[in-house]
Amino acid sequence: MEVILGQTKLVLMQGDITVQDTEAIVNAANEGLRGGGGVDGAIHRAGGPAIAEECRRIREERGGCPTGQAVLTSGGWLKARYVIHAVGPIWSGGNKGEDNLLASAYRNSLELAREHGIKSLSFPSLSTGAYRFPVDRAARIAMRTVVEYLEQHPDTFTEIRFILFSEPILKAYEEALNELLATKG
Ligand code: ADP
Repeated sequence: MEVILGQTKLVLMQGDITVQDTEAIVNAANEGLRGGGGVDGAIHRAGGPAIAEECRRIREERGGCPTGQAVLTSGGWLKARYVIHAVGPIWSGGNKGEDNLLASAYRNSLELAREHGIKSLSFPSLSTGAYRFPVDRAARIAMRTVVEYLEQHPDTFTEIRFILFSEPILKAYEEALNELLATKG
């Protein structure tokens, strides 16, 4: 699915984020910036040791990356020039500020990209794997946050892609975006 918002093409597709040719890709990182499983493991395997080395330096300088925030490294061997490591919340029932923290992780990733003049960006479905955030709820938050950001910054990005790993996750994001666009008329 593709929609145009301002100057930006917003694309939702099934795929593997490690092979995307956007200027940056977003990683679902953890606070320690230590490579984990899921999309994080795949990005570190495909991008090589330079990414982990930069993560180690950031950890030494700033102690890592708090939940809801994001940091930038190079992309190592990836096609993407940069990786934005965003830390989404661990789901623990929904009363621990998870919704706002997830929105912050998306917003801070977009903000960091904008600060670095990055024009195209691919996101995975943050927090919905090992961190167990319910997919439908995460999809609505992701779509709302990104669409709002693009409304506020209509000339910043050429393309924002969501690379969803499975058909059911893609469907959840498509439904969330369709619902949101319907309310906007
Ligand atoms: P988190 O710890 O934030 O939940 P995970 O990496 O466990 O992060 O999962 C986030 C999402 O990324 C899940 O939907 C998972 O299926 C998906 N995923 C795993 N590998 C890839 C990949 N190579 N490309 C895109 N998405 C992926």
